[in-house]
Amino acid sequence: MAKLRIRTYGDPVLRQKSAPVRTVDAELRRLARAMGEAMYEHRGVGLAAPQVGIHKRLIVVDVEWVKKEGDGEKSETGKRNLRVYVNPEVTWESAEDDSMSEGCLSVPGVEGEVYRPRKIRLKHLSLAGLSHEEEMDGMLARCIQHEIDHLDGVLFVDRMPFLKRARIAGALNRLKKDTLAGAAPAAKSAAAL
Ligand SMILES: [Zn+2]
Repeated sequence: MAKLRIRTYGDPVLRQKSAPVRTVDAELRRLARAMGEAMYEHRGVGLAAPQVGIHKRLIVVDVEWVKKEGDGEKSETGKRNLRVYVNPEVTWESAEDDSMSEGCLSVPGVEGEVYRPRKIRLKHLSLAGLSHEEEMDGMLARCIQHEIDHLDGVLFVDRMPFLKRARIAGALNRLKKDTLAGAAPAAKSAAAL
């Protein structure tokens, strides 16, 4: 499979809703593998198919392979554990929210606090085509909610409080201009999900 290109803020593909996967086949497994490679290459911890311009409900996540240092730098733990979720769907969420700073491979250079439910129950298909349902919290729950948003054309900056969003409006406008001019920076450092 050709190398996948990560789309950036301003690209209309990020605003399109993705369709459910009908069959889990070899092609889908190849796509999941290629998405994992792109995610690791860009030092992300999650990636959704629409971020590479493919509108299928497929996400990959690995919240263990990088850890954040105090100054925001990330270091590799060396352990890779790629999780793949097909047609992920939140069937329950806790009333209790958590606030955490998020970034996004599609919105390089921008980070901000977002409130999300602390715990979720997730229904999904595995790459073997089997149905699973599990409860999760912490970084994994956070990351999966961020990725499912991508499947619905929603970005984390949409969920930031109005005043904080106003503060990053300039950066978003610049990024959009660069994206439309084909000159958006390669996401590599501050990005996360
Ligand atoms: Zn993202």
